[in-house]
Amino acid sequence: MTVPTPQRQSGNGSYAPASGELLAELPVTSDDEVRRVVARARKAQAAWAVLPVEERATRLLRLRDALAERAEDLVEVVSRECGKPRHEALVHEVTTLLDLLGWVCKHAPEALAVERVALHLMKHRASEVHHVPRGVVGVVSPWNFPLIIPMGSVIAALVAGNACVVKPSEVTPLVMLEAKKIYDSTGLPEDLFAVVVGYGPTGAALIDAGIDYCVFTGAVETGRRVAAACGERLIPCTMELGGKAPLVACEDCDLERTARAIVFGGFANSGQACISVERVYAHERVYAPLLERVRALVGELRQGDPAKDYVDLGAIIFPKQIDVARKHVDDALKKGARVVCGGRSVPGPGQFFEATVLADCDATMTVMREEIFGPVVPIMRVSSDEEAVALANDSPLGLNAYVFTRDRSRARRRQDREEVG
Ligand code: NAD
Repeated sequence: MTVPTPQRQSGNGSYAPASGELLAELPVTSDDEVRRVVARARKAQAAWAVLPVEERATRLLRLRDALAERAEDLVEVVSRECGKPRHEALVHEVTTLLDLLGWVCKHAPEALAVERVALHLMKHRASEVHHVPRGVVGVVSPWNFPLIIPMGSVIAALVAGNACVVKPSEVTPLVMLEAKKIYDSTGLPEDLFAVVVGYGPTGAALIDAGIDYCVFTGAVETGRRVAAACGERLIPCTMELGGKAPLVACEDCDLERTARAIVFGGFANSGQACISVERVYAHERVYAPLLERVRALVGELRQGDPAKDYVDLGAIIFPKQIDVARKHVDDALKKGARVVCGGRSVPGPGQFFEATVLADCDATMTVMREEIFGPVVPIMRVSSDEEAVALANDSPLGLNAYVFTRDRSRARRRQDREEVG
């Protein structure tokens, strides 16, 4: 199977990563149509924005109920199109979305209330912060959490009185189209939330179509281009980019909890998460037993068809991600790392890479420095907190970090020194 490269083309195929099967061939939304969609969204937004926030929240709860009723359909499409196990689709995406929707609708009136600002001078005057909608929010999203990432932005935008147009990833368009179908069944204004389909150029067309705000989630390189395009148009944007989360195992850590956190954090969604455990720094006193426990736990993972209920580890989204994992492993082995388990791709159909743990890693290896975004966990021995902090901070991808120790105040002190967040 060859997944088409993201150039301007008329068809957007969606393939099942676990089988290579073509799930659908969708027409790419033309640039003119993207502009029309944004114009229609703007019209719908004008009527929506004048409703009191309480009313918007109440109406949006209908969407939560409709999504809950169709949870099975959503799980099916997320699991098939993204290749993740059904339980992950349910717990990490559908349930989280339902919870988020309820939470946002409950707290929006308070979060969006007028705030009085105390004045230092001119005390006879009053100053207030009013939260007003921006207009049309464009959301450009990735494939790894194809439901919760875009929909999290959609519901926040809508409850705040905006319209929202989403350009989902070209490899997982069906998930958002399913969400849109469910939205349309609720009686909420049809044009207020729209989905446009296509590759990078369709995302670029959306930014060019007169949106008032852009929420982008994706790779650093793409983010750079998107932020520059937003800068050209002087529209504000949110950039959610790559990560290289370190997990530091201090010498007093609870071994079992730490090992389980490494296995869950490293292999959930086959490691294709921006907050995955991407590198482990283990104190020399716990290094050997921790490795052994991680190896044993990984040995219990079952990899395969994500539609099977017993499967823990699903497929890899496209062949390029397999190549990335393989290159990291090869580079690490050449520089002295050792395979504790896994290390190879699995023959087709579909794209799978074994759950891989590498030991004796060091800071020169790409696997410790660059994003892996796959089921590979490299582990390095360190001899002090100082060394672990310095190594953890030696990365431009400071999205998040994990520290395992039994001493909470030590963890808090460490937390203040981590350059992440
Ligand atoms: P990507 O950057 O390749 O694509 C993201 C989206 O941008 C896609 O919809 C794509 O079509 C679109 N796009 C591509 N070129 C564009 C352009 N010039 N203008 C506008 N849109 C364009 O990322 P991906 O492979 O889909 O996702 C994986 C990456 O996302 C990883 O690096 C991961 O760390 C990151 N990510 C970050 C977070 C976070 O919250 N920080 C969450 C999930 C994923």
